[in-house]
Amino acid sequence: MLTEIDYLPDGLLELEATQLEEVLGGPTLIHLSGRREPALFVSVLMHGNETTGWDAVRQLLKGYMPGGVERELPRSLSLFVGNIKAAAFGLRHLDGQPDYNRVWPGSDLAETPEHLMMTRLVETMRRRGVFASVDVHNNTGLNPLYACVNLLDNRFFHLATMFSRTVVYFIRPCGVQSMAMANICPAVTLECGKSGEAYGIERARDYLDACLHLSEHPVHPVANHDIELFHTVAIVKVPDQISFGHCVSDVDIRLADDLDHFNFRELPRGTVLGCLRPDIGLGLEVTNEHGKDVSERYLELEGNEIKLRVPVMPSMLTLDHRIVRQDCLCYLMERYDDHLKLLD
Ligand SMILES: [Zn+2]
Repeated sequence: MLTEIDYLPDGLLELEATQLEEVLGGPTLIHLSGRREPALFVSVLMHGNETTGWDAVRQLLKGYMPGGVERELPRSLSLFVGNIKAAAFGLRHLDGQPDYNRVWPGSDLAETPEHLMMTRLVETMRRRGVFASVDVHNNTGLNPLYACVNLLDNRFFHLATMFSRTVVYFIRPCGVQSMAMANICPAVTLECGKSGEAYGIERARDYLDACLHLSEHPVHPVANHDIELFHTVAIVKVPDQISFGHCVSDVDIRLADDLDHFNFRELPRGTVLGCLRPDIGLGLEVTNEHGKDVSERYLELEGNEIKLRVPVMPSMLTLDHRIVRQDCLCYLMERYDDHLKLLD
């Protein structure tokens, strides 16, 4: 299922993400040698509709071939080009395919051939040795660029803050690339804003180039003013039986209509999320990392307004009705700076 090659097929860098399947045929691991070993591991198109990673890699590698003459990479690069079948259709994944970023070792989903592929891939990279791992993604809605880590470790923080001061630590969902690779080397996930935007592509390209030039991972603590560390602590859902909407009155919860502007903003206690019809309780359900209901810790009712009971920073808040129903209204994050001090 996984193709492994040690060269860049002719013309590959000219292809859009939608065209890769025609040439590569399936998920492909490409090893390119450079001046230093071990390799930087980069994965792109884990979600087929998130093209920024591939476009950043195209620009990066073209930069090392001025006028068609190949220059040596500062460090070897192992590039995993993931779900190009879904990319051909501009989809996250196809019906019948699992989410490629939930099937890495540590996944809690039922085993699929993709699980086996990722397990083999991790073993291959472990055997070869890896300097660092970067998985490049996009998201929807209004979010800044940020990096995620799954371990509280100074080497990981340095790698993350090379991309953004905003760093998110999470341990759910499981089975993600960065959590599996964290067992081998410092690993980050990049969230590069909306797919295909030039700014995100340039930032990812420059970041990958900086990683290729890095000689070692600093182990000293990241200075406090260079990192804003947040921890994803809870998920907020609208229960199925509760109706909701923006700018409409005939619903159980009327949500603020500019709600997605709250993403990655630290909201003070008392921030109003919406108005409730009487006698439906809190209206929203908040669950922590361990699946426990923690609604009362985060939300309170005042009159008919639902308000934050503690300061939090939401992410992934969306105005898309379907996404709210299928996934969630948002994630809640808390500042995690106190934990940094423990690592000094
Ligand atoms: Zn993604």
